[in-house]
Amino acid sequence: MGGTAVVVGGGIGGLAAAIGLRRIGWEVRVVERAPVLQDAGAGISLAANGLRALDELGVGEAVRSAARGQYSGGTRTPAGGWLTRMDGALLEEAVGTPIVGIPRATLHRLLREALPPDALPIGFDAGSVRQTAPGTVRVEDGRGEALEADLVVAADGIGSRIRSGLFPAHPGPVHSGSTVLRALTEETVDLRTDFELTWGRGAEFGHIAFRDGRAEWHAVLSLPAGTRFPDPLAELRRRFHDWHDPIPALLDATRPDAVLHHDIGELRTPLPSYAVGRIALLGDAAHAMTPHLGQGACQALEDAVTLAAALATAPTTDVALARYDAERRPRSQAVARAARQAGRMGQQLSHPVAVTLRNTAMRLTPSRAATRMILRHHAWTPPRLR
Ligand code: FAD
Repeated sequence: MGGTAVVVGGGIGGLAAAIGLRRIGWEVRVVERAPVLQDAGAGISLAANGLRALDELGVGEAVRSAARGQYSGGTRTPAGGWLTRMDGALLEEAVGTPIVGIPRATLHRLLREALPPDALPIGFDAGSVRQTAPGTVRVEDGRGEALEADLVVAADGIGSRIRSGLFPAHPGPVHSGSTVLRALTEETVDLRTDFELTWGRGAEFGHIAFRDGRAEWHAVLSLPAGTRFPDPLAELRRRFHDWHDPIPALLDATRPDAVLHHDIGELRTPLPSYAVGRIALLGDAAHAMTPHLGQGACQALEDAVTLAAALATAPTTDVALARYDAERRPRSQAVARAARQAGRMGQQLSHPVAVTLRNTAMRLTPSRAATRMILRHHAWTPPRLR
């Protein structure tokens, strides 16, 4: 069963969906409204489930070669004491790979390189999507341009216009209560670990080291939506100056204009379906989650492979979309709930007694038990595309 598809959104989810659809013989157009990648100055970690999805898309090896395995690290207190140590070798033993870290711009480039020129994103701001005839969907940009296809994949991110058109009564994304500032360091920093998270009261600082010696750091703070600082780097130096090494050194290795600042949103009310007629919702458009488990993009990659596999094997597109919805909704929404809970028990916890109790429980949890908890989300086997 071949067909034609328009993928709205050229982010990780949209590009992955396009690669998957191409691999099963569909003709694909990707439309993207942003001229530049908004998160280019940040990094991302990918767990076994995301990497396995990338393997199925034929991009896994390229991503692994450009990424750095996160073998050493864990969670610390601001004074530097360890709450948990994470052993990447244990994850490798259990699921074949540690988590890996990669600059977002590199991941994006590798996904784009997996597409032929005629499937690369074209500049187009999708305004409305509607069914024009049985089995045909039309995407319009509001300026008279239109594209028609058998299927539209809505991969237009957390603020998805397509989602709000399909579900007008849905409340849409809400502020999670946290805001994140992050950057890639300008130069190499002497890091003793591949990744760390440090939890203070209502604040988290973390880093991911990359293959080229640079690192991404992020600072997550419990703050009302819209809070902005005149000099973000100076504000972070003020808040984190007495946190353990290498936190001040990471801030010192950063150019002030490299700091990105976004409020963290999530789709707290789950969607009732990821498929409406011939429109499939995918990635953050379907299940935007908080970043506390590092799973948003991994879930988008799972979506992309599952959608392509369903279309390759189901007797009709409608059956495939029903199967995609049935397979993806329960899992991605469970991961989103777990991510929210991880944030509440981690970065967002601020009462001193609760923080002490949590820290004690974490110190007493054996490393193998902590690894098992993580594996609940990472252990996912993709359907085969070929
Ligand atoms: P997006 O990346 O938002 O892409 C949507 C695209 O659609 C955009 O390019 C946008 O310009 C385009 N678009 C929107 N509207 C239109 C329109 N009308 N017409 C045309 N184009 C349109 N996930 C992980 O797996 N690991 C991590 O370590 C991790 N860390 C994170 C850290 C932070 C601070 C945050 C905020 C998220 C993190 N995530 C992580 C989550 C991950 O970044 C997202 O889940 C993922 O990028 C979503 O990809 P997407 O393609 O669905 O959406």
